[in-house]
Amino acid sequence: MTTTHCPYCALQCAMHLETGPDGRLTARPAPFSTNRGGLCRKGWTSPALLTSPDRLTRPLLRTDRSAPLKETDWDTALDHITQRLLHLRAQHGPDTAAVFGSGALTNEKAYMLGKFARLALGTSQIDYNGRFCMSSAAAAANTAFGLDRGIPFPLADIGSARTVLLAGANPAETMPPMMGHLSAPTLIVVDPRRSATARAALDRGGLHLAPRPGTDLALARGLLHAVHVRGHTDRDYIDERTTGFEAAWEHAATWWPEHTEHVTGVPAAQLHEAADLLGQAARRRSAYILTGRGTEQHTTGTDTVSAWINLALALGLPGREGSGYGCITGQGNGQGGREHGQKADQLPGYRHITDPDDRAHIARTWGVDPADLPGPGRSAYELLDSLGRSGGPRALLLFGSNPVVSAPHSSRVRSRLRSLDLLVSADFVLSETAAMADVVLPVAQWAEESGTTTNLEGRVLRRDRATAPPPGVRTDLEVLHHLAVRLGQPGTRFPTDPDTALAELGRASAGARADYSGVTPQNLASGQALHWPVRADGRPTPRLFLNRFAHPGGRARFASPAHRPPAEATDTRFPLIATTGRLMGHYQTGAQTRRIPELADAEPEAYVEVHPDTAARAGLSAGDWALVTSRRGTVRARIRTDPTARPDTLFLPFHYAGAQAANNLTHPALDPTSRMPEFKVSAVRLRPAHDP
Ligand code: SF4
Repeated sequence: MTTTHCPYCALQCAMHLETGPDGRLTARPAPFSTNRGGLCRKGWTSPALLTSPDRLTRPLLRTDRSAPLKETDWDTALDHITQRLLHLRAQHGPDTAAVFGSGALTNEKAYMLGKFARLALGTSQIDYNGRFCMSSAAAAANTAFGLDRGIPFPLADIGSARTVLLAGANPAETMPPMMGHLSAPTLIVVDPRRSATARAALDRGGLHLAPRPGTDLALARGLLHAVHVRGHTDRDYIDERTTGFEAAWEHAATWWPEHTEHVTGVPAAQLHEAADLLGQAARRRSAYILTGRGTEQHTTGTDTVSAWINLALALGLPGREGSGYGCITGQGNGQGGREHGQKADQLPGYRHITDPDDRAHIARTWGVDPADLPGPGRSAYELLDSLGRSGGPRALLLFGSNPVVSAPHSSRVRSRLRSLDLLVSADFVLSETAAMADVVLPVAQWAEESGTTTNLEGRVLRRDRATAPPPGVRTDLEVLHHLAVRLGQPGTRFPTDPDTALAELGRASAGARADYSGVTPQNLASGQALHWPVRADGRPTPRLFLNRFAHPGGRARFASPAHRPPAEATDTRFPLIATTGRLMGHYQTGAQTRRIPELADAEPEAYVEVHPDTAARAGLSAGDWALVTSRRGTVRARIRTDPTARPDTLFLPFHYAGAQAANNLTHPALDPTSRMPEFKVSAVRLRPAHDP
């Protein structure tokens, strides 16, 4: 039996893997603080993909785009990639190669991928799919606290709270075992939909605030106004531990509840009630505010998260035991994935790529001259949109990512990928993006290799190998090693052993904000709760900011976010708003979970959730096939009616591909700070599928 962690979301539930009489692995829950002995159906069924008939076990290659992919051997595949990369580099320079990583990669892989891009390829063009899910909260947390660790306290702390406000998060569906921690007598859920979490809140006598999509920032400011005028702000905390309240209040002062109701659609009486519930719990040091993707995936995402943090600071929540603010990370290693250098503007340990001291430290660790390290590159969507254009990369290497389904404005992303001279995908199934590639490299899955991840509370976890990969499959670290050597790097610079990579990651991050220098296989195996920073003496930091925040001077900073409308307004041609989200049975683009029969059977097709009156006006009723169209494309989905839905809003899950892909609709406008696309608001129209 091997004890490890689930391959999917950031809760990283612990599980035991055992080999059954048929030689296949089965999963069952293992005791652990975050999942409290639970797994969702994705976790229970996760071993199925290890032996799926869809599993790739041989490299695939095509030298002619019009020809199908054909099986080949590793040397031929890697030699082909190397020759193409060297040829393109000689013609166009090092930035002609780009790398796209993933929040699904272990810490060791994320670290080595950044090193591979910057040393072996010499390119500045690296970013990852986490840009699409956590970058706004990361930017806001850095501004407010001087440091971004999603939830800066153990998740179990929430269990004793009186009131928890969840904004733009639906854990009852996306990470059900987390609901075991949300036992607060009062849950306040902010979501345009009556989600499973909103229903749970109402069942317990809590609140569901349902703002018009794209007005979350206005709602947070309206709540700050209500909290302040109703006497709930913690003046001593504001004076002793923060700066900037007066400027933040100036921005909130005009957001009377009636004005907020007019903009957001949330009744003023609900604002008063929510403010009082939060204020009373905050006074007892027993309130938390948690945010998720619903707050972030907007052109105002960073400002919106800042507005929720302002509310938390005004109530005196962050940096105190029994209360706090946190952001619920989505992807399995969404936290670690953004710390170790696969972001366009970062080096390992959250070091900044333009900081001379940070560059010098990483150059020393890597045994190169600081001048050899490239500077910052393009953010994820900007990188994808530049592919094949004048001055843009002509080769792209993808690791654990499926941007044809996950990126906004899918048709444009597909056309940019088609314009490349070389597209390479390292994956274990033929995802929609891998199917477009010139070379596909079959890599190992989570249970077939060891490594570490960092969960949503900043705790570093060990995943142990439970079984050998199928013959013909290599690990991502082996792929990076063999490519780097072919590109002229010393082999020792790109170790294939995860523990060696972890030790180097520790040296690279030593003294940095996300310090892993005290994380070792030994202290992980002993079961220590290693919340970073874990300095070389091995002492972890379960609760950040208890005495001081990470800014010079130790104070948290209020921001002054201004409300702005979404990038795209509804009009007579596109009169409805489409918003997107996740389902319990699927993970991210569905490339894995759509291949697991139990999950595919439970949620086999895309649907559009709509108010029955809105459906009727379009000539539709429950069960009909509909077309949802935006200025960028169309989705075919089955109608599900819900009388609690906002009549102006449609909801679509984003786990489906092709004609059912929600990102055919979405807008690629970016948050100016985080460069996060506006997934949550697109202007659309609805019509029956048989209409022209
Ligand atoms: Fe736990 Fe998330 Fe895996 Fe479900 S998908 S078992 S909630 S880690």
